[in-house]
Amino acid sequence: MTVTTGQVRQWIGAFAVAMAEHKAGLTDLDSQIGDGDHGINMDRGMRAVTEKLDTAPGQGIGPLLRTTGMTLLSKVGGASGPLYGTFFLEMGKAAGAADEITDADWAAAVAAGVAGVQRRGKAEPGDKTMVDALVPARDELTTATTEGAPLADALARAADAAERGRDATKPLVARKGRASYLGERSAGHLDPGAASSALLFRCAAAAFSGQGGQ
Ligand code: ADP
Ligand code: MG
Repeated sequence: MTVTTGQVRQWIGAFAVAMAEHKAGLTDLDSQIGDGDHGINMDRGMRAVTEKLDTAPGQGIGPLLRTTGMTLLSKVGGASGPLYGTFFLEMGKAAGAADEITDADWAAAVAAGVAGVQRRGKAEPGDKTMVDALVPARDELTTATTEGAPLADALARAADAAERGRDATKPLVARKGRASYLGERSAGHLDPGAASSALLFRCAAAAFSGQGGQ
């Protein structure tokens, strides 16, 4: 089983659609423990990515992911732009320039992306950030691909793990990012970045199963 440039493009496109659809919901989450701009930031960034990719067809997997990362870095202020930008850039570096890579290489690229987010943001699981969704998703994807599960199943399991991670942020007290300024008052709310990261994996599961996604 392999991953193709076309599937990666579908994934990025599906994530852009999801960020537009969930803009208000993500912003609402961020208004409870942050400054109410997460949905706006992500939608702006992914719109810019869509425009950029539309004018730059024919790239291999790595270059496609790198263009996505560079665009998010340059277009999105706030914490999430550099963090998502780093995720896609590091994924792109790991994926290489080919038009088709193995499932195992894809899982390794995702792991490189997550490592980049942690290097940049210094957050650990339990700090109430996007890392709480990304790390369990990466672990599940690695386990499932090592077991030889079909990629669509592996990504569906990873998306389930990301959603459980997102839900588990609710009782936590934030230790990183803007929400940490609230201290104990950050408890009782989902982390907006964990919510967008769970959508990122749900979109991957949909795009790689050939069902498009949303
Ligand atoms: P800002 O906080 O600058 O307004 P956003 O609202 O777009 O930026 O993004 C907020 C999200 O960024 C948080 O919900 C959290 O998931 C994530 N985040 C913030 N700081 C970090 C960090 N150091 N490491 C990982 N994720 C972080
Ligand atoms: Mg914010």
